[in-house]
Amino acid sequence: MSKVIDGKKISLEIKNKLKDEVEKLKVKPKLVVISVGDDAASKVYVGQKEKAAVYIGIEYLHMHYDMISDDDLIKEINKLNDDKSVDGIIVQLPLPKGMDEKRIVNSIVSDKDVDGLTYLNAGLLLNNKESLVSCTPKGIMKLLKEYHVNISGANAVVVGRSILVGKPIANLLLNADATVTLCHSKTNNLDKITKKADILIAAIGKKHFITRDMVRRGSIIIDVGINRVDGKLYGDVDYDNVYDKVSLITPVPGGVGPMTVVMLMENVLKAYKMHNNI
Ligand code: NAP
Repeated sequence: MSKVIDGKKISLEIKNKLKDEVEKLKVKPKLVVISVGDDAASKVYVGQKEKAAVYIGIEYLHMHYDMISDDDLIKEINKLNDDKSVDGIIVQLPLPKGMDEKRIVNSIVSDKDVDGLTYLNAGLLLNNKESLVSCTPKGIMKLLKEYHVNISGANAVVVGRSILVGKPIANLLLNADATVTLCHSKTNNLDKITKKADILIAAIGKKHFITRDMVRRGSIIIDVGINRVDGKLYGDVDYDNVYDKVSLITPVPGGVGPMTVVMLMENVLKAYKMHNNI
């Protein structure tokens, strides 16, 4: 069996399952993506979301503002909160400098927060209660499940403590009974900790930060990093040099990345089901 975790293949299978499910629905789920400003990477991510939504049959609306005040944006979000035809709302991050991302994101009602970023959804996850979970961590858990990785009792090390990836994946692993160590830029003796990992999650944002001598033989490596250097994508893990030492590894691209968008679509369908008591 290949040791490469094929996120592309798994995400396509899930996408097709979602498409079949949505086809049977009379009223389609609806996703609204809000963007502000002209961040180049955001444009790419918004495009990917639209493509996936259209493929699955989810109704999709993109609301773009060149500029808008926090208060006016929150007014728009409140309209969408009240609109019964809308199941999911996303504010594409980052917002332009000076905008209060936390306040804006937290104005989305929790049952439409398909990015799982509101305080309420984060708190539900912390308490191991049903919630809309942040898409990248949710995708990582799917990959581990697909590859029959034994999480219960495993030593899981997460490098990176962002609200988007590090903290939620640490909580999901903990909820699945792993023993979790959450590392960050102030962690002492990082290599000693990563070397003990049965499952190592790298969510740092630095090309090839995790080197061969930092991983345990036979471990499972999940590389979340997307680092664009001279037009090419690199992960946070030095894949080529780590490959023969580990038992499973995600490539970049084609590992975690494709799962993120499809998990967003799964969250939209989940929100739709909550709204329609299905
Ligand atoms: P982030 O908010 O910048 O967080 C990076 C984390 O890495 C921080 O917690 C930081 O620690 C830690 N870190 C930085 N330097 C370190 C060092 N020398 N040693 C140990 N830890 C260090 O990034 P993010 O949003 O979590 O994203 C991480 C990477 O994943 C990026 O490359 C991003 O593009 C990628 N990403 C991919 C997907 C996907 O779909 N595949 C989704 C989201 C993000 P401190 O907290 O101490 O600063």
